[in-house]
Amino acid sequence: MVLALNLGFPRVGAARELKKATESYWKGNLSKDDLLKTGKEIRLRHWQMQKDAGISHIPVNDFSFYDQMLDMSCLLGAVPERYDWDGEMVDLDTFFAMARGNDKTIAMEMTKWFDTNYHYIVPELDKGQMFTLSSMKIFEEVMEARDAGLSAVPVLIGPVTYLSLAKSRDENFDPVSLIESLIPVYAEIFNRLKGYECGWVQMDEPYLAMDLSDAQKKAYEIAYEELARAVPDMNIFMTTYFEGLRDNLDLAFSLPVTALHVDLVRAPEQLDACLAKAKETGKHLTLGLVDGRNIWKNDLSASMAMIEKAKAALGEDMVSVAGSCSLLHSPIDLDLETAMDPQIKSWLAFAKQKLSEIATLAKGGAEGRDAISAELAASDKVAEDRKTSSRIHNPKVKERMAAITADMINRKNSFDVRQNAQRDKYHLPAFPTTSIGSFPQTQEIRKARAAFKKGDLDAASYETAMKKEIEHVVKYQEDIGMDVLVHGEPERNDMVEYFGEQLDGFTFSKNGWVQSYGSRCVKPPIIFGDVSRPEPMTVKWSSYAQSLTDKPMKGMLTGPITILCWSFERNDQSREETCKQIALALRDEVADLEQAGITIIQMDEPAIREGLPLRRADWDAYLKWAVDSFKLSVCTVEDSTQIHTHMCYSEFNDIIDSVGALDADVISIETSRSQMELLDAFVAYKYPNEIGPGVYDIHSPRIPNKQEMVDLMEKASKVIDPDLLWVNPDCGLKTRGWAEVEPALKHMVDAAKAMREKMKASKAA
Ligand code: GLN
Ligand code: ZN
Repeated sequence: MVLALNLGFPRVGAARELKKATESYWKGNLSKDDLLKTGKEIRLRHWQMQKDAGISHIPVNDFSFYDQMLDMSCLLGAVPERYDWDGEMVDLDTFFAMARGNDKTIAMEMTKWFDTNYHYIVPELDKGQMFTLSSMKIFEEVMEARDAGLSAVPVLIGPVTYLSLAKSRDENFDPVSLIESLIPVYAEIFNRLKGYECGWVQMDEPYLAMDLSDAQKKAYEIAYEELARAVPDMNIFMTTYFEGLRDNLDLAFSLPVTALHVDLVRAPEQLDACLAKAKETGKHLTLGLVDGRNIWKNDLSASMAMIEKAKAALGEDMVSVAGSCSLLHSPIDLDLETAMDPQIKSWLAFAKQKLSEIATLAKGGAEGRDAISAELAASDKVAEDRKTSSRIHNPKVKERMAAITADMINRKNSFDVRQNAQRDKYHLPAFPTTSIGSFPQTQEIRKARAAFKKGDLDAASYETAMKKEIEHVVKYQEDIGMDVLVHGEPERNDMVEYFGEQLDGFTFSKNGWVQSYGSRCVKPPIIFGDVSRPEPMTVKWSSYAQSLTDKPMKGMLTGPITILCWSFERNDQSREETCKQIALALRDEVADLEQAGITIIQMDEPAIREGLPLRRADWDAYLKWAVDSFKLSVCTVEDSTQIHTHMCYSEFNDIIDSVGALDADVISIETSRSQMELLDAFVAYKYPNEIGPGVYDIHSPRIPNKQEMVDLMEKASKVIDPDLLWVNPDCGLKTRGWAEVEPALKHMVDAAKAMREKMKASKAA
């Protein structure tokens, strides 16, 4: 029997019920009982949905009120001291305090889950950390599933992945060294689960597909040998995903687990090696064939070929079919997309539809292709349609792609020549001031946009409202004496969606929400076809803003890598190809802006770092096409046109060469929270172009005063040639209110003026 397995299901609910319930609970508008009830309803509904679809093992404990890593920290009793935990079972309010902070203490840190856009709560573990079983959640949910008549497989984050993702206050302490004190708690959990008649447990060990240190490799051996010894009759179903096993293949198959799951969407090339190893070690192999990270229908024929191969190698009882990873990263139900273009919709599958695909493939594996002939025919038709559709394949785009030449990805002259041309043109003072682009997105702006989208506000009135906002922002910047102005981006809901909506090759769902962190969900654009730009996207707004002032107006664009990383991408061509298509479309926009007299242009690339592949060996190739794409998008302009870029984070050590290779005339980065320490990478690299280290932490409601910004600039001036420095906030201001922004930017301009005076004085001396 080839079984249909699911590794995990999204928990927010098709109507984002969980988001709404938790947020009401936080506001005090919903009782704890009602919140728990909502959670239970969602679990039961999703379990039933999986059962109805034909999934044979239903994952339990994939549900969470916030995050599965935080659930693990609670289960293991890893609650940092500052939460005043009593050491008994961790209650819901302590759990939420860890996630979000409370009036007494701050939240735990949050970071990206591998290369997804999901964020987990980072365990905080110190030397001598104790672990004790401190939550009954997993057992309660197992019972709940059993009461509902389901065969449940409890899911845990495996011990080595858990420790590898943790951090310690002591930089020299490696949490992985805690493995031996952690395992007894896992053994206790296993024993209890056996009491609930669970013969299987799913251990998520995505770290097995990452680059491993020797300590991590050793930890894998210790952990799983000890668990097998302590609880010999528990079957472990170990899952790996997001990458291939590569050099960890032998290690993975050497561990004493009953079944191993591998991701054949991200790494189809590992199938043969995995089959050989599974045969050698007698392990059951789960084929991760249905993409848990994207929205495309599965190519069932291609998947069947892999299943048949696996069956031939291992025998049908040793093979099952699953998603590539948990379906947590997919939107929930395509059936809700009633307004979507029917042809595009016919190409897609969301989580609910993916369950059916998994079941269909398992059936085909068990009974042969004939048993699923209708599904195969339908799938082949979709594959053919996508291969040939003129909505996907645009010959003009393909021609342009083929005609990209080396001189298109380089500026006409080197930075020093351009710098002179730009200085002659703009005559900016030393320490020029600017902002990152957005200004506060006020209630009125949001209301106007919503009314316009709904059709309650006509285009002309909407335009008038946005223009009024732009006038306000421009006047304010003139009044306080900013040097390079922005229009404030009031017309943009989101920096990627705004461009996706205007580019060909993109579409949008109405309900395709995916959890980003806690109760926050995002609805990524879907790139389905060749990307091109039918019309200018920003020129009208930027030109209007420029018409209001004699100061230079900066045009604002989102870069190709960021647009790619924050969308669902195509799976029928390489990421590089899609990225370059986006770059060509943006290149036209850059040319049009320049033509319209907007000759300072910022291309935001906040996602360049997060796009880094999970394995180091793949970094260079990615960085090469990422840099080329950025340059392709901007290198059409004259020397005197100034290209800015912005990245709102500060860990540049790993990628500083590539940041330098972007060759932007000016880069703005986040540095205020680290007190400029994070400029170090630029200093060590001797970054040659101009740079604006953020002096105002826009993530905090606090209004910085002039002196602290002067102090930060002085710090920066000591390590970077003051002649290259710009003065700007850390990031866009859209989440802040005017009451904070108004004084803060005024202080910032005053700080720049003070720096100029000092510079003059020291030159005179
Ligand atoms: N220009 C964008 C803004 O100011 C940049 C946002 C970002 O870097 N995330 O909002
Ligand atoms: Zn930013």
